Amino acid sequence: MEEASKPVEVYSPANSAQAFVLKNLLAEAGIAAEVVGATTADLWSVGPLATPKLLVHQADEAQARQIIAQWEQQERLHESPGDAGLGEEMIDFACDRCGQFVSFPVEMKGTVQECPHCGSFIDVPGEMAS
Ligand SMILES: [Zn+2]
Repeated sequence: MEEASKPVEVYSPANSAQAFVLKNLLAEAGIAAEVVGATTADLWSVGPLATPKLLVHQADEAQARQIIAQWEQQERLHESPGDAGLGEEMIDFACDRCGQFVSFPVEMKGTVQECPHCGSFIDVPGEMAS
């Protein structure tokens, strides 16, 4: 049985960019990984068609999974709430008029809303500089 070098899938990255990040990460650890189902061109046009897979040699599987698990943990730390994100983010700012703090969903940035405290019209500022 010559299965030692058979490639096994260790991860299904969300997109090609992620696939190549992981490939580089594994390469740094001396693991030859292969990305299938994605090309470098996808980096600039990530679409639903791209379903990349990350393959490593079976002999490297355990180590690769460990590295990926660590990477995932770090990614989650980076995605802590408060950072720019999509969905339920709120913009907090002080009303020009009354100075009270108001918050609006980020989707309303750049629009004019009514202050819930004093009723004056206020501009919802754009994204905060990070
Ligand atoms: Zn106000």
